[in-house]
Amino acid sequence: MAEALEAIKALATGFATTFKHLFRKPITEEYPEFKRTLPERTRARIILTRDPDGGERCVACYLCSAVCPVSCISMQSAEKEDGRRYATWFRINFARCIYCGLCEEACPTSAIQLTAMFETCERDILTLVYEKEDLLVDHGGKDKEYNFYKYAGVVTQEGGKGEHIKEDKPVNVKSNLP
Ligand code: SF4
Ligand code: SF4
Repeated sequence: MAEALEAIKALATGFATTFKHLFRKPITEEYPEFKRTLPERTRARIILTRDPDGGERCVACYLCSAVCPVSCISMQSAEKEDGRRYATWFRINFARCIYCGLCEEACPTSAIQLTAMFETCERDILTLVYEKEDLLVDHGGKDKEYNFYKYAGVVTQEGGKGEHIKEDKPVNVKSNLP
């Protein structure tokens, strides 16, 4: 008896919800005339950003291409006279990209970022291969103030390299034989 009452109660609740919606004004958002403002964390079109001083953030470390589950990022690294690395070319095949965001997570310099721009549909699949000039923007994206070279490997007033709390002395990596 108790079970039957439970079932009737559940049915009544379901029908009540349906009945309520019969008199509700429908909400229709006409796309593309109406476009919602998507959250900043939306994962769509990828860009390569710049430091606040205008320099290219990407140091061609290959971490993004290594972590990419569909191997759609490729590049070639080179070094400037001052020792700073950069990518001579950088390519993303958006026909393969699954917009997982792992490249953005892996990037140490905040160079590669996913944006909320999702309208990149094309008929010709080959036009979905983006080169560095298509990806590089003239701003810092989500991390406007971040400058990797201002923080990484910088000696502070607290002490030299390897002298901070819980910090190891620099090693000669060539001596790290297996
Ligand atoms: S979002 Fe994912 S699939 Fe797309 S390039 Fe980045 S790591 Fe690769
Ligand atoms: S975008 Fe970031 S992770 Fe990818 S190569 Fe450049 S610096 Fe490395």
